[in-house]
Amino acid sequence: MVRASYVIASLFAITARTVNAQDAVCQAPARIDTSTTDAGPAPLTRVSNYRPIFQQCHNAQNQTRLAIRRMNVDAESLLLMVDPSTLTTSLEHERCWTCADTNDEAQKDTRFMGAVQIASEPALNGAAPQSPAFNAGLSHSTKDGSFITGDLCPSRKPLDRDLLELLKTIGPRTPVALAISGLWLTRHGADFQWLREQARSGALEITWVNHSYHHPYVPGRPIADNFLLRPGIDIQAEILDTERLLIANGETPSIFFRFPGLVSDAALMQAVRRDHLVVLGADGWLVFAPPLRPGAILLIHPNGNEHPGLRLFVKLLEKGRLPRPFRPINEAP
Ligand SMILES: [Zn+2]
Repeated sequence: MVRASYVIASLFAITARTVNAQDAVCQAPARIDTSTTDAGPAPLTRVSNYRPIFQQCHNAQNQTRLAIRRMNVDAESLLLMVDPSTLTTSLEHERCWTCADTNDEAQKDTRFMGAVQIASEPALNGAAPQSPAFNAGLSHSTKDGSFITGDLCPSRKPLDRDLLELLKTIGPRTPVALAISGLWLTRHGADFQWLREQARSGALEITWVNHSYHHPYVPGRPIADNFLLRPGIDIQAEILDTERLLIANGETPSIFFRFPGLVSDAALMQAVRRDHLVVLGADGWLVFAPPLRPGAILLIHPNGNEHPGLRLFVKLLEKGRLPRPFRPINEAP
């Protein structure tokens, strides 16, 4: 009798401990251990069974999120989730959430679906749907201030750290959206770790935008046969592999996707929308000296390939000619 109750008590203790441990895990987003990445960026294969889903989920704290990807990382089942009102994303342990399939129609009144849908309406301008489109998607915000975005297209040159150091002087947690290509990350492990350190220390608030994995580009080719419109491009792999690589290296992809060269067509727009991402354009590519209005989405290239644009950015910044405040890109849609 005594023995039986001891066994039952022990069992209960184990169960209670398990529940407590699970609760602790569920208190915060999942963290991917990157302590071994000194050897260079982790391969995207660290993230397996990666697939798009669309589910509405809630947890014990009665929070509601939309899950857009499911995956396994180091034997854990994780979800990439979006807060449908703030548009922030997080990686969460699947076991902490109760989820059910949903669809675009059921979520159409959320801020999130509004952003996905508006930003994926092709900029046809009377052209045929197969025609290439330039700068489709969200290219301007109705908010005041402006949005600093930087593209990390594949490059053999190092990251322009001076430019980011300058952004740090604007104030703590200066928001910057970095559109990263998979090939940039694989070749710039130390620069990527440096960027993560700027975010960890609170100097910059970085939002990671997907800029495709390979970012194809052939100089001199017409845009109808260039960038992601090159033959044989697997748009789904371009999208998902970049997300996997970011996750494998400890970061969380945002809901934004920026087309290489800002070039797309209706089919590409549709693919991005199917994966529940927001197409991010720009109306402030500074080398083209556009008039800068409040709500401008500024575009610079801190990948070492666009020094005239950076010089112009610095000049405008120092003269106070960039619309303030600088806002996080999640506030743009
Ligand atoms: Zn690019």
